[in-house]
Amino acid sequence: MTNNTTLLSQQEIFDLFKEKYSGYSPDFELWIKAGQVEKLNRLVREKKAVILKHNYMSWDLQCDEVLGIRGDSLELSRKATETDADLILFLGVKFMAETAKVLNPTKTVLIPSLKAGCSLASSITGADVRKLKAMFPGVPVVAYVNTDADTKSEVDVCCASGNARKVVEWALKEWKTNTVIFLPDKFLAQNVARDMGADIFFPDTSASAESNIRHCEEQRDVAISLHKGSPNILFIAWEGKCEVHEKFTPKDAIELRKDFPGVYIMAHPECPPEVIAEVDFAGSTGEMIKNIEKQDVQDRPVAFFTECAMVEMLAAKHKNVLQVCSIQKRCPHMAQNNLETVIEALENMQYEITVPEGLRAKAELPIRRMIAIK
Ligand code: SF4
Repeated sequence: MTNNTTLLSQQEIFDLFKEKYSGYSPDFELWIKAGQVEKLNRLVREKKAVILKHNYMSWDLQCDEVLGIRGDSLELSRKATETDADLILFLGVKFMAETAKVLNPTKTVLIPSLKAGCSLASSITGADVRKLKAMFPGVPVVAYVNTDADTKSEVDVCCASGNARKVVEWALKEWKTNTVIFLPDKFLAQNVARDMGADIFFPDTSASAESNIRHCEEQRDVAISLHKGSPNILFIAWEGKCEVHEKFTPKDAIELRKDFPGVYIMAHPECPPEVIAEVDFAGSTGEMIKNIEKQDVQDRPVAFFTECAMVEMLAAKHKNVLQVCSIQKRCPHMAQNNLETVIEALENMQYEITVPEGLRAKAELPIRRMIAIK
């Protein structure tokens, strides 16, 4: 449904839910959810809002019956620059809503729960980036979009999982160098570095401040000596991890292949490299969703190593998608979004995202650079 279509009644939504999602909830629950969706859509229309919903939302939020635009981080960042609505309700986690606010300083941006954080975003701060820049002066800094505005305000360019390699290549060319600081996701850094045949170094950032010149110099010397004589690109990386994707193991892939011969496994590149080595395809949520339409995938059982709400949604559309309890992982931050908290967000205009203007202005350039790199 788009914001211009005629609103569906509770009965019409219920009928569609029964057709598509009857395996997920009994009828009485589908009826309640249909009523909540009708109410939510009415509020969206009344408040002239746009809902941006991440692919990791539960099926009753990311379904087509809820007004709004669905996508991954990169797609939603692009959509956030295109909307003319004055009110954006972001169904995702805080760094995503903050990104929308940075790009739309005059608009009101809401998130249903302030508890919707992210283990990657909280693994690093702007002060940490300053420390890295003091260790490796003149080296471009690429930050995964899963970072707070404070961190983004210190970096040169952001990237998403879907364009990380292209962004790194762009930064190396612009800065005319073969070294890049890539943060904060350890596994994404290792996966992109491996793709590019690059070396990787994790500096010791335990010394407390960027003003600790001796420590900074020592770390720079260690990196130089390890990389000496190598023609490869060098990634200086950080040890952040996604608390969901770090849990997948190579054993998950091996056992799936035993039980489901011919299974096609897709994984998000926030998974450890030894997991990525065992799967058939690695990509962003948007890329994985597109990939499932490919002819050679359609005839095989398909498994995903990513947040399970997306898998649940895909299983409703594609009968070959496997839902295996032991390997399903739910992000507790994404789970803060549900029909109740989302309706309350619009009813009470909560929780508004604010970013101090000095920080916002500095964080905008790296995000805009990411959006411009196709
Ligand atoms: S799935 Fe991982 S990266 Fe995404 S919000 Fe949750 S903790 Fe952060």
